[in-house]
Amino acid sequence: MNDFDDLGPSKLLQLYDPESGLRGMVVVDNIALGPAIGGVRISPTVSLQEVARLARTMTLKSAIAGLDHGGGKAGIIADPKQENIEQLVRAFARMMGGVEEYVPAPDMGSDESMMVWIKEEIGRVLGLPEEVGGLPLDKLGATGYGVAECAEIACNHIDLPLQGARAAIQGFGNVGRAAARFLAKKGAVIVAVSDSSGTLTHDRGLNIDELITTKLHQGAVLESTQGTTLPGDAIFGLDCDILVPAATPDVIHRGNLEQVKARLILQGANIPVTLEAEEILAGKGVLVVPDFIANAGGLIMAAMEYRQKSAEEAFVAIERKIKKNTDKILHKAKKENLLPRIAAERLAVERVKAAMAMRNLSYQWK
Ligand code: NAD
Repeated sequence: MNDFDDLGPSKLLQLYDPESGLRGMVVVDNIALGPAIGGVRISPTVSLQEVARLARTMTLKSAIAGLDHGGGKAGIIADPKQENIEQLVRAFARMMGGVEEYVPAPDMGSDESMMVWIKEEIGRVLGLPEEVGGLPLDKLGATGYGVAECAEIACNHIDLPLQGARAAIQGFGNVGRAAARFLAKKGAVIVAVSDSSGTLTHDRGLNIDELITTKLHQGAVLESTQGTTLPGDAIFGLDCDILVPAATPDVIHRGNLEQVKARLILQGANIPVTLEAEEILAGKGVLVVPDFIANAGGLIMAAMEYRQKSAEEAFVAIERKIKKNTDKILHKAKKENLLPRIAAERLAVERVKAAMAMRNLSYQWK
């Protein structure tokens, strides 16, 4: 892959360790604003291309959130549940330990306990459990909290009362569960959730606490006795006001966007809607808030952990930054007739380029 542009990527590393069987990659996209923070994705299908796209998203997310961090991301090609996962994560940490400008954190397939293994190997990691001095952003629901804060402002822009709004959430992992919990707390009615087992829907709203317990103890939302079950992809066409894709990339695309009935899509996952679909949806009057605005909560908490702040301070920062940024980019998008993603990207790129012009990028963070 050789897709370089003005911002990066500054480093692409492929990792292979025949002894443990580790196959993985690290991409440092841009470090003009500071050390790159980015999750470690563990999945049998993760690719260098995907990790590079996600690393760019992190650069933009950091910049637009006003954080002094760059963007990076890593991948381990494995099933997170496979027996030797600890060995693989430790081998990964040792192999990327020298890439000092990248600070790993949890992402899809990885969690706080895995971050402890990385800490033991190289000492440089975020998203650690509280017991070892970290801010466990997934356990605390940082990203889902930010999605709900974003919803409040985005709803104002389309005159949709959040109280009573019908929301559907695709993916019931760390982001999806917390988004459901915090949206319900703000009065939204969660009419559907899905995971890899399928979709569960109830017209009058699902009981989120019960679903979270079921998912955590039995592993799948369809184990719940609530609601009606449907195939996984059916969630995109359900009758709802707000759709939160919170699982994998490119799930809303030209082939299924006609089904979408929601007026507002909040991108809980990274790059869950193709650019083409975002453009067509905007033409149909659907407001799509891009990933690097809507799901910046986890990154903001990680940046607060980096500065040894408390969970309370992190939640205040998430609320303040995400509300401000959502409002700012939605106003800019409307005023300049741009997609919200383009409006946000322009602001983010401006900030990164200004920093690039000022800095010697060979600087290493210790
Ligand atoms: P996770 O591994 O905790 O959960 C993923 C969920 O998606 C699981 O419930 C899984 O069953 C479900 N899923 C997988 N394939 C699916 C499919 N085809 N249909 C429906 N559900 C499916 O991951 P996570 O931490 O919740 O992250 C989800 C997404 O959000 C990823 O794109 C990640 O990069 C992004 N993200 C995460 C954070 C964070 O703080 N964890 C922050 C920003 C962005």
